[in-house]
This record gives sequence, C-alpha cells and structure tokens, in this order.
Amino acid sequence: MYDIGLPELEITEKMTDENNDCTYQATVKTSPSECPECGSAHIVKHKKHDRMVRDLNEYEHRVGIIIHGHRYQCKECGNTFGEELDCVDKSGRLTKRLIAKIRLECFDKTFKDIAGEYGISQPSVKRIFEDYIDELSESFIPYSPQVLGIDEVHLHSQYCGVFVDVLGQKVIEMTENRNKVTVKMFLESLPDNHKIQCVTMDMWQPYKDAVLDVLGDVPIVIDKFHIIKELNRALEEIRRTLRKDMEKEKRASLKNMRFLFLTGGENLTPRQSKQLDMLLEAYPQFKTPYYLKEAFRNIYQFAESREDAEKLYADWVQANADEDCHAYDGFISTVGNWHTEIFNYFDNRYTNAQTESLNNVIREVDRAGRGYTFPVLRAKILYRHITAKKGKFTFKK
Ligand SMILES: [Zn+2]
Repeated sequence: MYDIGLPELEITEKMTDENNDCTYQATVKTSPSECPECGSAHIVKHKKHDRMVRDLNEYEHRVGIIIHGHRYQCKECGNTFGEELDCVDKSGRLTKRLIAKIRLECFDKTFKDIAGEYGISQPSVKRIFEDYIDELSESFIPYSPQVLGIDEVHLHSQYCGVFVDVLGQKVIEMTENRNKVTVKMFLESLPDNHKIQCVTMDMWQPYKDAVLDVLGDVPIVIDKFHIIKELNRALEEIRRTLRKDMEKEKRASLKNMRFLFLTGGENLTPRQSKQLDMLLEAYPQFKTPYYLKEAFRNIYQFAESREDAEKLYADWVQANADEDCHAYDGFISTVGNWHTEIFNYFDNRYTNAQTESLNNVIREVDRAGRGYTFPVLRAKILYRHITAKKGKFTFKK
C-alpha cells in the first residue's frame, strides 16, 4: 500500500497529525529462521513486540514508524531475540538512513536545529556525531604540507591554534591553545615533517620558538597582511593624535578620512581618490604619514628581489627619520625584531591570506553552535571536506 523504501517492512497504515507529522504502522515481512546465539532452528514466537523508530522526514514533516514485530525464544538455549532489521540502527530507535543524513547535516547545521527537525533529542544528535567523528578520525591521515601556515582564532576568550596547508587551502589541525608546548607537540606529531619547506605565521614568538625547535632552519615568513595591519595601526594612531589637536568644527569634515587613509591607494575609486587629495591639501600635516604608508606598501607590491626590498626599506626608514614627526618609529622597531622573517617573504612569496577566510568559517561554525566542546568544533572544521558532495541531478525524460 505504501512504499517508503524500506523493503524489510510491510507498511499497513499511515496517520497524519495536526502538524502533518506522520506515523506509519508496519509489520516485519520475514521472521527469523534460527537462533542468532546457537544457530538452532528450533525457535518459537515468544510474545508481541512493538518498536518506535524515527525515519527521514517527508516533505519537511517528521516521520515515525511503529514496527509491530515479535520476540522469539530458542528452545535449544533459551535465548530470546527480536527480528534483526537491517534498516534500523543498533540503538533500535532510528533508521540507518536517518543517521546517515544527520551525520552529514552536522557539518552545516547546529545540533539543536537537527534535533528539532527530526524530533529527537539534542544529546542523541551529539552522540551520532561523536560516533561519526570517531569513525572519521580513524581514516584521517595527518600529513606535512609543503607550506605550513600557523595562525590563531579567538574563541570563547581563548586563542586556538589553527594550522593550514597553505597551498592546499585547508585546515589540517586545530589546537586548544597556541602555546609553544602545544605547537611543538603538533609539529612533532606530523609524519615526515622535514618535508615542510616554509612556514608562514604572524609575529608571535612561541610559534617561532616551536618551529626553530622542531623544524630547525626552515624559512619562516611573516605574513605580509599582518605587517600591513601593523603599519595601518601605526597610521591610525598618528591620525588620531593629529585629529585631537584640531578644532571641533574641522574634525567634522574628517569623517570619511579613516577609510580613505587606510584603504590601499589602488583600491580607491576615482571619486574617493579625489576626496583624499582634497583632504591632504586641506590638512597637509597628514601628508607625510599617508605617503609613507603607501610607499611601504609599494615595497611589497613592486620589489623584485629580497635585495631590492631590503634596499627600498632602508630608504623608507631614512625617509621616516628625515621627517619631523618620526611617524613610524614604533613600527620600525617591530620590523627590526622580525627583520629576517619579514624579508624571507621576498624569497618565499607565501601569505596566510587563505587562513583568514578559513578562520571566518571557524568563527561561523562556532557561533552557530554555542557550547560546542573543542573536539566537536575541531571535527567540524577538519573533516568538513571529507564529506562528499552529491553529483549533478538531471531529470529523466
Ligand atoms: Zn539458541
């Protein structure tokens, strides 16, 4: 009468409640022929036995199946048992196809949403995902990427370490903190870690120490976007200080200045460029800091070799010293502390740009599922690319 794609069951009735959620009544088509314990064929029906099983939704409506079966008894060994159904999970309360669906959905939806969608409890969803994580972790093979990116993401007032295959553009590990010991342990755990040819990171000493300890003299590259961020921070400080000295009514006309100042010159529209020129004409005290910022960015853009970059930078430092404001003294001392690693970029032109967008994915996943334990969050991030996408569907005519 009804075919719901579970051939072991005979569906006898369908009932729909006021929410259009539906319950099927079903019987089991075949009865067992022998005792699963001793193999004896001498078995008898013991008593009736009903089970309630959740199944996949139908058109967004929740589905339950009441399976009317029996318990059997073995006359040989006394063992009692029910029909073994291939379509039902070992818990006996969910169909296997529902579990398969929930496993995949856990990567994109919160436990809470899934629990509501299928009318099951949140702990059940969590348990399903945890079983899945265990399975996935067995087939997860850690490897050493050619270029390793080390970064962090701030979650729950804690910095988690994020390790990225820079060329493959994926997260290969997450750690609960970013201490030297933790980073070292991760690096040591990587098979063939001598294959790592370059490590990109931001200016965080424990990363550097850990890499030196474990990977020796592998070139470390400080991510250029972090450097530009530092540079912009210095410029922003200068802008604020100069602004403070101005009279109130003049400040009002500077509303848009922050944006015009910090955006790379080449990314401004013609109209915005014109606005900026007018601002700089009206307030010439901003000129030097602004042009120095752009000049520094040009080093990254145009230097053809490390030698070239080092020379351009030396000139730039001189230009800053020649100005009264010494606008970038603090920035220059930061660069001084990481000089080798910063200029390594010009021999190994890798950045952590991808990591930033991966970090956004991590934040999104974390925000969606408030209260994830770290292992759950880590699994959601690490294994998301393992779950295969379905192929293209076309209508059959
Ligand atoms: Zn038996």
